[in-house]
Amino acid sequence: MKKKIAIFGSTGSIGKSLIEIIKHDKNNFEIILLTANKNYSKLLNQAKIYKVKNLIITDKKSYEIVKKKKLKINIYNNFDNLNKIFKNKIDYVMSAISGIDGLSPTFQSIKYTKKIGIANKESIICAWNILKKELNKNNTKFIPVDSEHFSIWSALPNKKIINNVDEIFITASGGPFYKLPISKFSKITIKDATSHPNWKMGKKISVDSSTMMNKVFEVIEAKNIFNLPISKLKILIHPESYLHAIIKFKNGLSKMIVHETDMKIPIFNSIYENKEYYKKISKLNLNKLNNLNLKKPNLKKFPLIKILQIIPEKFSLYETILVSTNDTLVELFLKNKINFISFPKVFESLIKLKEFKKYKNKVPTKIDQIIKLNKLVQLNIKSIYT
Ligand code: NDP
Ligand code: MG
Repeated sequence: MKKKIAIFGSTGSIGKSLIEIIKHDKNNFEIILLTANKNYSKLLNQAKIYKVKNLIITDKKSYEIVKKKKLKINIYNNFDNLNKIFKNKIDYVMSAISGIDGLSPTFQSIKYTKKIGIANKESIICAWNILKKELNKNNTKFIPVDSEHFSIWSALPNKKIINNVDEIFITASGGPFYKLPISKFSKITIKDATSHPNWKMGKKISVDSSTMMNKVFEVIEAKNIFNLPISKLKILIHPESYLHAIIKFKNGLSKMIVHETDMKIPIFNSIYENKEYYKKISKLNLNKLNNLNLKKPNLKKFPLIKILQIIPEKFSLYETILVSTNDTLVELFLKNKINFISFPKVFESLIKLKEFKKYKNKVPTKIDQIIKLNKLVQLNIKSIYT
């Protein structure tokens, strides 16, 4: 029987990689739903190739354009009609919409699928307690797709083993400015910040890699998924991006997970689990293994990492404040409204605000709460900087 799947954010970097993977195994998949925001031409092209009958296009203009084409497929403008699309539980959902806009679709899809691969890290950071409850309630299997988290997850087959973990090291490439002297940071352009040396990713996450905020988020993501205190999670700079995580156990052993710098590896494994496709093409890279470089991050160059010191251990709405503040600042940076060098200063001063700090004691209970808070933070910041 064909596996029934849906790809949320199919026109993005992760979504396209998943499409690329199943291209080799078309007969075993039926794509029930594809979604995009604006890129309707790419979406329609994917729908045509894979004979997809349901599409969601969230951008109003793009939706209207496609609607006028009177195609023989169901086109929706939002995620409110998932019950019409999924009659029975499907096999797999890929959650790969970028940003906090991916949260509600991720949450809503859980009850309609047996398994969900979540790339949208914002969901895991802001709403893990709510998502976990929904996953348990619906008996839906979760697989993290972010490469470091996928590596850790795959190295802990028995989830109880987490009690034996002493520390986890998450690696970071260091981004495009790892070697750039701090004196040149003031000249960094949007193009510089969106050109990642190792990974080909969407614009937003590329900027996050350049400021290293991506690693801050990944530590929080790991804290949530693996239920570990921040003090047990460390960042190591590893420019080759071959080693993704090191798990040090209390018994003196450590596990290191290596794979080529290719998001298709976690994506492939999240959908197939035990299949062997990559056996043919991926050899252990001895050259890379013989030249592993691992260093502590430079906090002077990348001060955003220090944010980890002020994150409450208990899950709260403060994580939403961090994500929304960062989202807004990245947006302002990409519109040339703030420059790279002012990024950490502005960020730090904003999150210290009293009205933001109070959320450290508030636990989210509903997705709407997170979405509302996100809007509020964005409005506040934009009123200051635009
Ligand atoms: P992209 O920017 O490449 O793609 C984003 C996708 O989401 C596109 O399909 C886009 O549609 C859609 N989208 C954007 N905004 C909205 C919206 N408001 N409503 C509905 N759909 C929307 O992102 P990536 O693929 O790089 O990243 C996706 C997620 O995965 C992010 O959360 C990222 O942090 C995470 N991730 C990505 C990694 C990577 O290597 N790329 C690695 C680890 C995690 P359209 O094309 O029409 O704009
Ligand atoms: Mg990652």
